[in-house]
Amino acid sequence: MKKRIAILGSTGSIGTQALEVVKAHPDSLEVEVLTAHCNADLLIQQALEYKPNSVVIGAEKLYHKVSEALQPHDIKVYAGEDSISQIVESNEIDIVLAAIVGFAGLKSTLKAIEAKKTIALANKETMVVAGQLVTKLAQENAVNILPVDSEHSAIFQCLVGEFHNPVEKIYLTASGGPFRGKDREFLAKVTKQDALKHPNWEMGKKITIDSATLINKGLEVIEAKWLFALKPEQIDIIIHPQSIIHSLVQFQDGSMKAQMGLPDMKLPIQYAFTYPYRFKTDYPRFNFMDYPQLSFEKPDTATFAGLNLAFEAMRKNGNMPCILNAANEVAVHAFLQDKIGFLQITDVIEACMQKISFVAEPSLEDYIQTDHETRIISNELINNISN
Ligand code: NDP
Repeated sequence: MKKRIAILGSTGSIGTQALEVVKAHPDSLEVEVLTAHCNADLLIQQALEYKPNSVVIGAEKLYHKVSEALQPHDIKVYAGEDSISQIVESNEIDIVLAAIVGFAGLKSTLKAIEAKKTIALANKETMVVAGQLVTKLAQENAVNILPVDSEHSAIFQCLVGEFHNPVEKIYLTASGGPFRGKDREFLAKVTKQDALKHPNWEMGKKITIDSATLINKGLEVIEAKWLFALKPEQIDIIIHPQSIIHSLVQFQDGSMKAQMGLPDMKLPIQYAFTYPYRFKTDYPRFNFMDYPQLSFEKPDTATFAGLNLAFEAMRKNGNMPCILNAANEVAVHAFLQDKIGFLQITDVIEACMQKISFVAEPSLEDYIQTDHETRIISNELINNISN
């Protein structure tokens, strides 16, 4: 039986790589649904190649364009954000790859869990914003959430066969991004072109900026807490510039397991699709002599202040990670539009964490309200900075 996959966010960096994984295993994997936000041309091209049953274009104004191109090929076309959340309920889907970027991916992931679909989770913001709600819902519906983020996939792979063995702690590795070793004086002057040059990974713009500020690692710490039911003090970060060790688990006997390989997101995507099996690939293999030294450093939290903010948000819990996430999304967008400087991304987050009302036990409505309120305040702060 082929696994039938819905790729939410198929036009993005993760989405396009997921399609390559499907293409490499036509006897085992097939595409059932593709969704995009506004990149209609690529969505049409993907649909003509992969022949899904349905596609959804988030931006409703693009419905006619997509529908004219695909309906003659017997592909159903829907439009609007709500349609993305509805389509995941289809009986024809086995796995939903949550690869929409940001808070926008939350609703469809929750719907997919309620519909008892296996989740391949790339959209870390979903876990950051509403980890408690997501994990509870997944337990109630007996749904597996299989991590796609390379660090979390690494931890997940290290835990296979270790069900009875408590984890002492985990180490999430981080490349350090393009500004590793730089000071705040340097960071005050960097441009978006500088920040978009990641040393080891090709990714969407938002996560690439998050990697440069190290906020991405902060988001991953919160994601790991929920995915692996850990306490904050059980999670550590280690800078590993070569990105060969994707993360490590330390067990209570002191023994450590690491998962390694060349940095290629197709590997964790494929593992989530084929779990618990490993399918043969012809991707390049790691050669020790190309990497005679693997190195490790402590993260510089004085320079990259966002990392401390993420730890603070995780410890406070409630709606605080939701505030951190929304402020970050708005600030990164403003940085990419040259409205604020690089260091001001964390200034905006910090100010929002102080200003927005704290809710200790948030409901889904509270998360939506917090996200909305934080976006308004962040935009006000950004307007004050840029005027
Ligand atoms: P991209 O920006 O490359 O792609 C985002 C995808 O989401 C696109 O298909 C986009 O559609 C769609 N999208 C954007 N906004 C909306 C919206 N409001 N409603 C519906 N769809 C929307 O992002 P990435 O692929 O880089 O990242 C996706 C997620 O995976 C993020 O959460 C990221 O943190 C995570 N991740 C990414 C990694 C990577 O290597 N890229 C690694 C680990 C995790 P359109 O193209 O039409 O705008």
